[in-house]
Amino acid sequence: MGDSLRAKVLVVGGGPGGYVAAIRAGQLGLDTVIVEGDRLGGTCLIRGCIPSKALIHAAGRFEAMLHAVGGNALGLSLEAAPRLDLAQTIRWKEGIVDKLSGGVSALLKRAKVRAVQGWAVFSDAKTCTVATEAGPLTIAAEHVILANGSEPIALPGLPFGGPVLSSSGVLSLQRLPGKVVVIGAGYIGLELGIAFRKFGSEVTVVEARERILPIYDEQLTDPVRRWLERAGVTVLLGAKARGLVGGNSALGVETADGAVTEIAADAIFATVGRRPRTAGWGLERMAVDVDGPFVKVDDQCQTSMRNVWAIGDLIGEPMLAHKASAQGEMVAEIIAGARRRFNPAAIPAVCFTEPEIVTAGLLPADAAAAGIDAITGVFPFAANGRALSMEGSEGGFVRVVARRDNHRVIGVQAVGTHVAELSGEFVAAIETGSVLEDIAGTIHAHPTLSEAFHESALRALGHAIHI
Ligand code: FAD
Repeated sequence: MGDSLRAKVLVVGGGPGGYVAAIRAGQLGLDTVIVEGDRLGGTCLIRGCIPSKALIHAAGRFEAMLHAVGGNALGLSLEAAPRLDLAQTIRWKEGIVDKLSGGVSALLKRAKVRAVQGWAVFSDAKTCTVATEAGPLTIAAEHVILANGSEPIALPGLPFGGPVLSSSGVLSLQRLPGKVVVIGAGYIGLELGIAFRKFGSEVTVVEARERILPIYDEQLTDPVRRWLERAGVTVLLGAKARGLVGGNSALGVETADGAVTEIAADAIFATVGRRPRTAGWGLERMAVDVDGPFVKVDDQCQTSMRNVWAIGDLIGEPMLAHKASAQGEMVAEIIAGARRRFNPAAIPAVCFTEPEIVTAGLLPADAAAAGIDAITGVFPFAANGRALSMEGSEGGFVRVVARRDNHRVIGVQAVGTHVAELSGEFVAAIETGSVLEDIAGTIHAHPTLSEAFHESALRALGHAIHI
C-alpha cells in the first residue's frame, strides 16, 4: 500500500493541453493535481514546436552566413565558410527547453497546482496510481482531464533506432549527417528536412502521395516546392520507403514507376505522422468511448464517462498545441461552472518551412466544397516594401477568402518569410466576424507584411492600391 491523495481535478499529461488546463483550474480555485511521466511541457515544449523552431532559426542563421561567403548582394561578406557545431546548437536548444519547462513548473506552483512526476495508470475512470520516486501514489479525483497527447508513428519494417529517427531523435542529433532521407513530406518532415539542408546535409524527401504538404492547395505550396528545387533537395513523389538496405547505410525506395532504388542515408527522418497515445495507461478500464484511434468527446470535450474530459492530440485533428491549450482552458472553466463550448470559427496553422505557410479558416477549395459562393483577393509580397527589404518576397502572397454575398472573411492564407506572425490578425478577423470592408478600413502600419493583408482585402473589393 502506498500513499494516496484526493483532488477535485486530476490532469494527466503536462503538455500544452494539460498544463494549461491545470493552471486555469488552479486560478479558478479548484483543488488540482497534474501528473506528468516525462517532463512538464509535453511534446510541444520538450521535443516538438519549440525545439524544432529553435533548430530552424539556427539553420536560417547558418544559411545566411553561408550566403555571405565571398560577398553577397547586400554588401556583406565573410572570408571563410562558417562552421557548425551541432552539439552546441543542441545544447543551446536544450537551454530554451529547460527554461520553458521550468517556467511551466513555476506557473503551476503559482496557481497552487500540485505536480506529480511519474506515469499514471488508471484502475477505473476516476482513480490512477502513479509510480513516483517515493513509491506508488494513488490519486482519486472528482474530475479527470485526459491530456495524454500523441507519439510518432513508426513505419512498418522501419522501427525507430540506428539511422531511423523520429522527430525527437532528429532534435537531439549531435553530429550533422552528411546524407539525410526524410520520409513524409508533411509539415514536420519538411520543416526538419529544410533545416538540415540549410545546415549543409544532402537531403532527399520520399513522399507516398503526389504532392508535398497535400492538405494545402498548390498555389500555397508552390513557393516551398520551388525553394526545395533551388536548394537542391531531391523530392521523390509517389514513392514508398521499403526498408533499410546495404547494411543499414541506405533506404530501399519504390519509386512512382515501380522501380526499386537505394538511397544512401546517414540518417533517416521517419516523419509520417503521429497517433494519439491511447495505450499503456489503462484507458480500457475507464469505460470511455473511442472514435477511430482517438478518444471520443462532445463539443465540451466530455468523454462518454461522466466527469472524464479529454483534450488535445488525444482527441483528434488538428494536432496543434494552441488547439490543445484552448480546450484545456475551456474544460477547466466548465468544471468551475462556466457554460462553454469548443466551437472556434477557425484554428490557425503554421508550417515553418521555407518560406512559411499560414492558414486560418477555409481555403478557396474548402469554401467551394461547402457550397459557399466565395471571392478571393491575392496580394503578392513582390509588391510589399517590407518583404522586399527583407529579401522575403520570392513567390509569396496573402490570400483572403470571403463570402460573395456579405463579404464576411471566412479564410486567410499566406506564404512568405516571417508570415507566421500574421496568423493572429488572420484568425482574429475570422473569429470576430470581420468583413472585407473592416480589413480595408483598418490602417495597417507601414512598412510591414501586414499591409499585404490590407491590400488583399482591397483587391477582393476590386481596388487594391499597389498592384
Ligand atoms: P502532448 O504535448 O503530447 O503532451 C502529453 C503529455 O502527457 C506528455 O508530456 C506525456 O509524457 C504525458 N503523458 C501521457 N500519458 C501519461 C501518463 N499515463 N501519465 C503521465 N503522463 C503522461 N504544434 C503546433 O501548434 N505548432 C508547431 O509548430 C508544432 N510543431 C511540432 C513539431 C514537432 C517536431 C512535433 C512532434 C509536434 C509539433 N506540434 C506543433 C504538435 C504539438 O507538439 C502537439 O499538438 C501538442 O504538443 C499537443 O499537446 P497535448 O497537450 O495534447 O499533448
